[in-house]
Amino acid sequence: MSKDIQAVYFDLDDTLCAYWAASRKALRQTFEEAHLPVSADDAMDAWRAVFATFSEEVRRDPWYRHYLESGEPTRTEHLRRTLERIAPDHAHKAEPMSRRYAELRLQYLELFPDAKPVLDALRGKYRLGLITNGPADVQRSEIETLGIEGYFDHILIEGEMQIGKPAKEVFEKASSKWNCEPSQMLFVGNSFDHDVLGAKSAGWQALWMNKEGAPVPDDAPFQPDGIIQDLCGVLDYLGIERSSLSTR
Ligand SMILES: [Mg+2]
Repeated sequence: MSKDIQAVYFDLDDTLCAYWAASRKALRQTFEEAHLPVSADDAMDAWRAVFATFSEEVRRDPWYRHYLESGEPTRTEHLRRTLERIAPDHAHKAEPMSRRYAELRLQYLELFPDAKPVLDALRGKYRLGLITNGPADVQRSEIETLGIEGYFDHILIEGEMQIGKPAKEVFEKASSKWNCEPSQMLFVGNSFDHDVLGAKSAGWQALWMNKEGAPVPDDAPFQPDGIIQDLCGVLDYLGIERSSLSTR
């Protein structure tokens, strides 16, 4: 495919920053501080078990319309259901624990070390954008905490748009902003289903950030244009020398 790229858009969580690592560390500490009658390990297992079903439920009303605006109601409900499983007498702690978890998660959130150098190397050469799923308040706090807003010419957040990846409309909103052909747009993201399939279905080029070396699903309707292990892989794809990276 021709690489006449005009704009580069990124996913946020686990593409530019280590979201799940921050989430796990924050959750563990929240469970430890709550003095529950079970170990933090058991509480983490229960939280994951609730996630397996609740993450789907969140995508539907009545939860979804609350979730778009704020991460608080579903985060608290997730913890309440977790406590109901492991320590029902402590279910009343769901609200303060939810606040503590959100606070710690933001505190522990960090950009990947190559994020700012790569964004610096791309700035001025391409339009830069961010397309992130999640509640408006959570995503805005992450962007502010990470100090990356100034890098982007265009920021699209599921909570603010009321629609998220992989919907084609989300990607179309970005390409039409710059009057670009979809094939001149590049998306970089870690989720095969949301990022790669969403971007490819809209006619974009897509790089899959795949740190764990997961295989492309057998039944995938599209292939990524490239698979990268870190953000420097974006520079390789665009033919920009890694030696051009600033070291700040
Ligand atoms: Mg992600």
